[in-house]
Amino acid sequence: MWVRGKRRARLSFQDAGEKLTPYPFVLVYPQDLHERLLLRHLEQAGVQVQRPVELVAFEDREDYVVARLRDPDGGLRECEARFLAGCDGASSSVRQQLGAGFPGGTYDHVFYVADVQAAGVAADGEVHVSLETSDFVIMLPYTDTGRGRLIGTVHASRTAGAGPYTFDDVGHSALSSLGLRVDQVHWFSTYRVHHRVTNHYRSGQVFLVGDAAHVHSPAGGQGMNTGIGDAVNLAWKLAAVVRHEAPDSLLDSYELERLAFARKLVDTTDRMFNFVTAEGNFADFVRTRIAPVFATVAYGVDAVRELIFKIVSQITISYHDSPLSVGSAGTIKGGDRLPWVEVDGADNHAPQEKIDWQVQVYGEAGDELRAWCVLHGLPMREFAWSRRHEEAGFTRNAHYLVRPDGHVALCDSSPGPDAVAHYFRDRAYRRFCD
Ligand SMILES: Cc1cc2nc3c(=O)[nH]c(=O)nc-3n(C[C@H](O)[C@H](O)[C@H](O)COP(=O)(O)OP(=O)(O)OC[C@H]3O[C@@H](n4cnc5c(N)ncnc54)[C@H](O)[C@@H]3O)c2cc1C
Repeated sequence: MWVRGKRRARLSFQDAGEKLTPYPFVLVYPQDLHERLLLRHLEQAGVQVQRPVELVAFEDREDYVVARLRDPDGGLRECEARFLAGCDGASSSVRQQLGAGFPGGTYDHVFYVADVQAAGVAADGEVHVSLETSDFVIMLPYTDTGRGRLIGTVHASRTAGAGPYTFDDVGHSALSSLGLRVDQVHWFSTYRVHHRVTNHYRSGQVFLVGDAAHVHSPAGGQGMNTGIGDAVNLAWKLAAVVRHEAPDSLLDSYELERLAFARKLVDTTDRMFNFVTAEGNFADFVRTRIAPVFATVAYGVDAVRELIFKIVSQITISYHDSPLSVGSAGTIKGGDRLPWVEVDGADNHAPQEKIDWQVQVYGEAGDELRAWCVLHGLPMREFAWSRRHEEAGFTRNAHYLVRPDGHVALCDSSPGPDAVAHYFRDRAYRRFCD
């Protein structure tokens, strides 16, 4: 954190979450590479993304959807599908056609994003943020040789016109506060930032996912991660319903679980952004004098560092109010993300052969529970009891039913299978019913 050309605070995220996840760091990974990585995995799974094919309109016919598509040659065709997921970004035409609201607002600031080659102390491979004035700027490195991405605001005095803006319009006092000299601008773009959340994630056979459902300031780097979280939440539910393993009502839990989190996130990033860009002498004083000191002191406390890591990595997301969340055992409740523990190579987050439900027991499982799982094809994993499990909040010999997305569905301290059997029966989850 920089103020007036001086480094005022340094918070190390390296290993901040070493007790929480096998990936205890912040990774800066350009979105184009990330998209290519996901596309590669989709291709390996036999899915080909067709570009540029445009969704022009759709009709929800209650138990299926007819989508009208425009091919690159301009030709129109229809496609029938059981469900439609609108992952079509902030201006989502799916959301507009649904008539779902997108309440919230738009910031006055014009943001810019630039891929640059820079020199100076702040071009050292670490993340740097300027608190100099209400001009916001953050430098995200791609390498430690000065290549990186700048995200900031165009100077207010330049945004009276309609644009287009150039790199000359950006807040240079904020840049010089970082002691940064920009030698080359490889790419530059400006945009307006909204803070909005849709009213509905589901309408009939149609779902909204990612920026189509929620947008907010890039401060905090949470947008794409939240969209991926939506997709992970929805994907296993769609798969179960399409395979007739679970009733359609399972899909209603998608909105219930994800909407509350999106509202909280947009509210938090809004407050953070307003703090960082507030104008006036008092705001400048708090931002430049108090914030760096407070951040340094607070970040020195293990529990605070861990909490910040949990928030930024979204490990804290839980679905306690969901109809899919039941019971508690130890400090773990239905709806929590399964706490990560690795003891002597036994990793409770290690991927299974396929993404599926599972039962985990810390200690020894009861014979009846074991037999029930075998009979119903429900994978079970047993972990030899250790002090580390106790520290993470597990109860010895209790069993934890874990959803395909890694959240705990059910916690039960009894040795038998009744709670698991009831769980699936109550939800008419055919695959695991007798
Ligand atoms: C400068 C900046 C920095 C950011 N940094 C971070 C960060 O550090 N971490 C983070 O998690 N997030 C970050 N974000 C947010 C992140 O980029 C978005 O949340 C994410 O890209 C949203 O993904 P999406 O797939 O929902 O939507 P989009 O990326 O907008 O993709 C929507 C896609 O749908 C296509 N489409 C639209 N309409 C149609 C149609 N009718 N038919 C067919 N296709 C259509 C579009 O062409 C596009 O390919 C940042 C955003 C910005 C602007």
